[in-house]
Amino acid sequence: MSDEVMVEMRSVNKWYGEFHVLKDINITVRRGERIVLCGPSGSGKSTTIRCINRLEEHQTGDIIVAGTPLTNDLKNIEVIRREVGMVFQHFNLFPHLTVLENCCLAPVWVRKMPKKEAEEIAMNYLKRVKIPDQALKYPGQLSGGQQQRVAIARSLCMNPEVMLFDEPTSALDPEMIKEVLDTMIELAEDGMTMLCVTHEMGFAKTVANRVVFMDGGQIIEENCPHEFFNNPQSERTQLFLSQIL
Ligand code: ADP
Ligand code: MG
Repeated sequence: MSDEVMVEMRSVNKWYGEFHVLKDINITVRRGERIVLCGPSGSGKSTTIRCINRLEEHQTGDIIVAGTPLTNDLKNIEVIRREVGMVFQHFNLFPHLTVLENCCLAPVWVRKMPKKEAEEIAMNYLKRVKIPDQALKYPGQLSGGQQQRVAIARSLCMNPEVMLFDEPTSALDPEMIKEVLDTMIELAEDGMTMLCVTHEMGFAKTVANRVVFMDGGQIIEENCPHEFFNNPQSERTQLFLSQIL
């Protein structure tokens, strides 16, 4: 792990209308770190990570991604979106495009990569997520776990510096959760910088180097997994852990 800061959120506040959804959020993600963000439903986890690539706009505080400050400048937003891959609970694949076409779309249209090169790169990532044989199928012909692995491969095709995951296994049947988690574990082993919202505490224990706990729009507690699970400091963390473990 290096000292290079990949994502920095400093005193970030956000309101939805009158509702103060993010209260002074401070998160630092260094290159190679794997951070799990957890907390009860509605605590602001999705909003937090969606602010990082401007799917949501924050009102005060600073967000800096790989050295680029997130401002209203569209150039900066574009630069940041290139550095940040995102995987959602619902895979958000294009249903009318094949798996391979889904993976090549952004490299060809955003990066202006020649189609043949984009396809080669996509096939490499589809091999890495262990579904190269599904390349010519449509998303609807794949299982949920396979679709999520396509979504991960598709993100990787843009060669991101940071990957954000928002409950990537929550919509999956139990037997498919493991194959997606295994893909994420391999990504972590390859050194990817990851910020993951997940309720998979086994993943948090084995893969995360830090766990951040949110409640009511605030970061309540942050620790290495061993301390977080064995010695939670706040009552809210203790309550949360007693409910999910
Ligand atoms: P989490 O991902 O931790 O479940 P979210 O970040 O999705 O939480 O939501 C945090 C809070 O903000 C919730 O109370 C939710 O109802 C509210 N919220 C989320 N999106 C919007 C929106 N677009 N407009 C208004 N309120 C929202
Ligand atoms: Mg959420």
